[in-house]
Amino acid sequence: MYQNIMLIIATILVIGAIIGILAVYIYIFKHYHYRCVKCSALYKPDTLWQSMCGINGGSQRKLKCPNCNTREWADMIKGAIPNFENN
Ligand SMILES: [Zn+2]
Repeated sequence: MYQNIMLIIATILVIGAIIGILAVYIYIFKHYHYRCVKCSALYKPDTLWQSMCGINGGSQRKLKCPNCNTREWADMIKGAIPNFENN
């Protein structure tokens, strides 16, 4: 009985952690854009999944740049892309 309660608590904690991590990723996806270090193009990943797959290097992420089509480090910049028309 006691073990069951511990298992339920552990499950709730794990689910809570997953939801928390997901919320952070959604926040980053919605509120940040990126600048390619190679060609300086500003872009946003097309999908949340692409954003999540980027290797996190602090203020930079390794993402596929749509402009030069290479997997390069990109600077994370808070806010929407200025004059972003592909929305
Ligand atoms: Zn680029």
